[in-house]
Amino acid sequence: MHVNKNYKNIAQSYLFSTIAKKVSEFSSANPDKKIIKLGIGDVTLPLCEAVVNAIKSAADEMGVKETFKGYGPEQGYEFLKESIQKYYASHDINLDNDEIFISDGAKSDLGNILDLFDKDNTVLVPDPVYPVYVDTNTMAGRKIIFINANADNNFLPLPDESLKADIIYLCSPNNPTGAVYNKDQLKKWVDYANKNNAVILFDAAYECFITDKELPRSIYEIEGAKTCAIEFCSFSKMAGFTGTRCGWTVVPKTMIFEEMNLNKMWLRRQTTKFNGVPYIVQKGAQAVFSQEGQKQIAQNLDYYKENAKMISQVLTKHNIWHIGGKHSPYIWLKCPNNMKSWEFFDSLLENAQIVGTPGSGFGANGEGYFRLTSFGSKENTMEAVERLDKFLK
Ligand code: PLP
Repeated sequence: MHVNKNYKNIAQSYLFSTIAKKVSEFSSANPDKKIIKLGIGDVTLPLCEAVVNAIKSAADEMGVKETFKGYGPEQGYEFLKESIQKYYASHDINLDNDEIFISDGAKSDLGNILDLFDKDNTVLVPDPVYPVYVDTNTMAGRKIIFINANADNNFLPLPDESLKADIIYLCSPNNPTGAVYNKDQLKKWVDYANKNNAVILFDAAYECFITDKELPRSIYEIEGAKTCAIEFCSFSKMAGFTGTRCGWTVVPKTMIFEEMNLNKMWLRRQTTKFNGVPYIVQKGAQAVFSQEGQKQIAQNLDYYKENAKMISQVLTKHNIWHIGGKHSPYIWLKCPNNMKSWEFFDSLLENAQIVGTPGSGFGANGEGYFRLTSFGSKENTMEAVERLDKFLK
């Protein structure tokens, strides 16, 4: 037996463990000081009422012989796919039902989709980045190249002719930077991919935070995307499903490479290796698209957006360069006084008892930057903003 030695090449991430260790040491030394966590990437508001009711009634159905469900379709129930199809149609995007695949979240599919591609492909990943893209490809032994996201390009890198990539990851609104591509910028990526026979893996997990109608919520708002882009989306941040687990992936039927149809390949992959998302969960997800559900999740999203606005305002007041926070739960700031990411982390913890995430943990270009998030409670965020105001003076 030979193990997959590529696992030796996965960089050990000490980011969140180091944060936890530093916070725990500070707490032990200062038990009277209240620490506010603005580093969390998980949601804190509970599932909305419409979702909870749908889940409860689906659970009741499962307890009755006549309505009990066993294995469901691997690619998801029609009722949920139809709701998602209508959601896209409300943004003027037409998709066929069988182009939508229900998943147990974006993370699984972002990793699993790589089954469709040969090892011998070059993967392009922006730096800084959500670490899953790099680690999943490292596990598969693929060559990874990076494209710089930095202050010069507002953390939204664009392709140029010198680039040689087969699989391209884009995440907009971005984690960790909160930056959002506009349509012209995405068009450049779509044109690059179509011209160079490349595939774009578009992570739209935060699309629900976009409020500006001019900004694309889906890659399919861009002409030409249906021949080059796969889109990943999630109920996690949209409706608080981080612990409930549901998402979807769109693989257009027009994605044909070397005479193979990626939609058919993904269906084959899913029916072979996946047995579907629980009926109860899919019923909960369907309720997100009901009139009540939409109203209720909008309230939750507004709550987070309000937190983001407060954080952004205090940074603006103190002339701290930052992006994100507007169409994203993430605020990406330049550490004041040219501090390094970890230096700023220590100073913020020591002097204001606020915990954020050092940008350097997301890639080399994150050094000197810092991520704050709006997923905390309103009360804690307000208190953190007051502390930031004093700290930044
Ligand atoms: N994509 C990005 C950019 C994320 O930040 C996250 C989670 O934080 C995910 C995907 C994972 O989403 P899910 O909970 O649907 O697996």
